[in-house]
Amino acid sequence: MNLSSPLPLQATDAAPDWARVRVDFPLLMREVHGKPLVYFDNANTAQKPLPVIEATSAFYRRHNANVSRAVHALGTEATDAYEGARGKLARFLGVRADELVLCSGTTFAINLVAYSWALPRLKAGDVILVSRMEHHANIVPWQLVAQRTGATIRVAEIAPDGTLDLDALHAAMTPEVKLLAVAHVSNVLGTINPVREICREARRRGIVTVVDGSQAAPHLPLDVAAIGCDFYAVTGHKMCGPTGTGALWARREHLQAMPPFLGGGEMIKEVSFDGTVFNDPPHKFEAGTPNIAGFVGLGVAVDYLDALGREHIAAREQELLAHFTEELRRVDGVRIFGTAAHKAAVVSFQVEGAHSHDMATLLDLQGVAVRSGQHCAHPLLQYFGVAATCRASLAFYNTHEEIEAFMAALKKVRALLG
Ligand code: PLP
Repeated sequence: MNLSSPLPLQATDAAPDWARVRVDFPLLMREVHGKPLVYFDNANTAQKPLPVIEATSAFYRRHNANVSRAVHALGTEATDAYEGARGKLARFLGVRADELVLCSGTTFAINLVAYSWALPRLKAGDVILVSRMEHHANIVPWQLVAQRTGATIRVAEIAPDGTLDLDALHAAMTPEVKLLAVAHVSNVLGTINPVREICREARRRGIVTVVDGSQAAPHLPLDVAAIGCDFYAVTGHKMCGPTGTGALWARREHLQAMPPFLGGGEMIKEVSFDGTVFNDPPHKFEAGTPNIAGFVGLGVAVDYLDALGREHIAAREQELLAHFTEELRRVDGVRIFGTAAHKAAVVSFQVEGAHSHDMATLLDLQGVAVRSGQHCAHPLLQYFGVAATCRASLAFYNTHEEIEAFMAALKKVRALLG
């Protein structure tokens, strides 16, 4: 069985030929409204390279069967492919495979922590500390837990440049705080938070940490074990993998102590009407048939990112970010949200006199895809006192020519709206 990449992918010290890499992404070759597509919505979801598309399709063409439920050849192949993907993702994150729960994405992963770790433990008087810049997936599950336990939510504020106020954050870590939820990288501002330092301070005070790695895993060299958190969540579709894939890494002692979140097949060792013996972690948390083909694709996606080299990816995206920001600053009436020194290639902005939805709609007519709105981060936009922004988010496969095309489109749209 060969479910690995059909293309030769070798990690190399030299930076990849980015023009060659781009050819791996068929969707980037299409036109939109008769114009060449400029896809700057990568923080929303990333495009998929051919090896990922091929591997997902090859699974259905040649190996499709359910996992762990059949002794026949296809069943064994499917199980090997699924567990192989767990191993690849674990290596990519720098963690043990038996501490990695595969699930549908970050939203599921954080809810698993909320319902399985927090709900049985928290009580009235306890505090859940959440940063101002969180995605709703790292806010709403904690609100649901707070409603049911009597715990309260405390907000760690940010500075106007979009960095976390670390002194305020550390001061907010009082003895009542039992859990801290923080993004590694903000999906709106691009800010890269110093999660290692934050988790060290939290751990010293006995606070359990949940790090949302959705926007970090695709863009930064990552060693989750070295961060020192308790839980780390990732989502496959932002990592060039299929939608409906993701994972929660957790310290072994938590996985052993936590009750299952969902019950059903796969997560049990033995069932009778007198009771059930649960499977060992991580399978205890993986009830039902998973997205097997999706995880096969995700395994190939992380191999693909590793073969490009995550240092190279980060350097390439920093170069694109610098170019994009410099050009955008030259446009009259532009306000940029998030100017931290350490940030990923995510740029939220507004243009004076133009509504963000109108901007995004007119940019789309020029072939440019950006996101507009509140980016699933209402409390963050409330802090800045705005109802919506446009967000351009770049990936390694974007080009300097696309940045020039974006700027030309932006100036055209601005003239139309102005
Ligand atoms: N957290 C952050 C920071 C995100 O950017 C996103 C997706 O936009 C999510 C969580 C939600 O992840 P998923 O799509 O896996 O539910």
